[in-house]
Amino acid sequence: MALGELLHYHVIPPLFLLFFTPVVQVLTQLGDPRPLGWSALFGSQFAWAFTAVTLVWAWLFLVLPGPVHHGPTTHFGQTPPYRANGMLYYVCTLLLFVLLETWLMPGVSVTIYSNMSAILAALNVTALVLCTFLLIRGKVAPQSSEEIEPKPLPHEFYRGMELHPHLLGVDVKQLTNCRVGMMLWQLLVLVFCVAGARLHGLSSGHVVCAALQTVYIAKFFWWETGYFSTLDITLDRAGYYLCWGCMVWVPCFYTYAAFFLTRQRPLLSDGQSAFVLAAGLLAIALNYRCDLEKQRFRESGGRCRLWGRPAEYIDAEYVTAQGRRTTKLLTSGCWGVARHLNYVFEILAAFCWCLPGLGHGVWPFLYVLFLTVLLVHRVFRDEEKCSNKYGKAWKKYCRQVPYRMIPYVF
Ligand code: NDP
Repeated sequence: MALGELLHYHVIPPLFLLFFTPVVQVLTQLGDPRPLGWSALFGSQFAWAFTAVTLVWAWLFLVLPGPVHHGPTTHFGQTPPYRANGMLYYVCTLLLFVLLETWLMPGVSVTIYSNMSAILAALNVTALVLCTFLLIRGKVAPQSSEEIEPKPLPHEFYRGMELHPHLLGVDVKQLTNCRVGMMLWQLLVLVFCVAGARLHGLSSGHVVCAALQTVYIAKFFWWETGYFSTLDITLDRAGYYLCWGCMVWVPCFYTYAAFFLTRQRPLLSDGQSAFVLAAGLLAIALNYRCDLEKQRFRESGGRCRLWGRPAEYIDAEYVTAQGRRTTKLLTSGCWGVARHLNYVFEILAAFCWCLPGLGHGVWPFLYVLFLTVLLVHRVFRDEEKCSNKYGKAWKKYCRQVPYRMIPYVF
């Protein structure tokens, strides 16, 4: 067996499972060093209630009657339907939070903050049970007709089995990624900001950290239907990497700068915070601009204008279960500057919302460091996918737009 294969299938999945599953508790302990009890392993009554309400609330919005959006058809002919009410879910959840914090349960943010290790334990147990169920069902009674080559069990658990499984009438990945993961990210950064203000007084740095993430996440819900064409949804299967990642890793790690700053207060002045806010908003706007250009280009079949000129493109062909298809690869606007300029702005935005942690060591910057590794790795994963899918047309695109992320650098 080749070394690459040994690492990919036999070594990395169990190592990742053993490292990442407990590390969320270590991180929580670093940010809020109070003694951990049994609740850090099994959750507390409050943590289980919080987890149950979060899941049921998210599920309810997916079974509500409403508009449906179909994602891209898979290579085995499945066209997954999604509930297209992301903004309604987002606004209703935030209104509920405001109602709870200001009227029904004042101080609920401090309670959630104090119970973070128990909440992460409850989410961890729930996500592991879900991934085990998805693994067994994917092997024993799969819902799709896709033929999946058997691999070592830890790899299958880590990667997941099915591409678009359903559970209790909803798409599992829409539930775990778009609804539970993204909404917990949003709620928790607000919770940590309010808890910080209640415990230690308001801080402009903490507000900027939460505000930038709020704009970023609101943008996600605004654009949720666009997410159904991304790598997470079209390439990654419902398993530990994606479902555990969204249900546990996102609430713990993506929110970490805001969590850390609840106790260790930001050292930035109000003026510096305002500057960081402006820079962060610009980075988020430019990241959105990149995604929007591609979305408009694809929706218009290439008949749109970018940067004041008609869009330029390369015609590309690919094969599906239904036969040959054609599409276009954009070579002007942001997608003519570099092949993944959107990731550069994503990293800059994340850097800005971690910046209020300046002066507290590396901890508040863990997310942006992780994101940089994740996105650089993702560039290679995406390019491998596109090269296999488009062949010669992809090579031509790479010749015409030679840089991956930053012109003349990478
Ligand atoms: P992209 O939006 O970069 O999309 C990549 C896909 O777009 C390719 O697989 C290909 O798909 C298509 N494509 C590539 N080049 C072109 C081109 N020149 N013209 C037209 N289509 C092209 O990928 P992601 O899904 O990774 O990212 C979406 C957003 O999510 C970004 O804003 C990103 O920053 C963000 N993100 C955030 C993460 C986080 O953890 N915070 C993680 C990952 C992403 P096709 O098969 O359709 O041709």
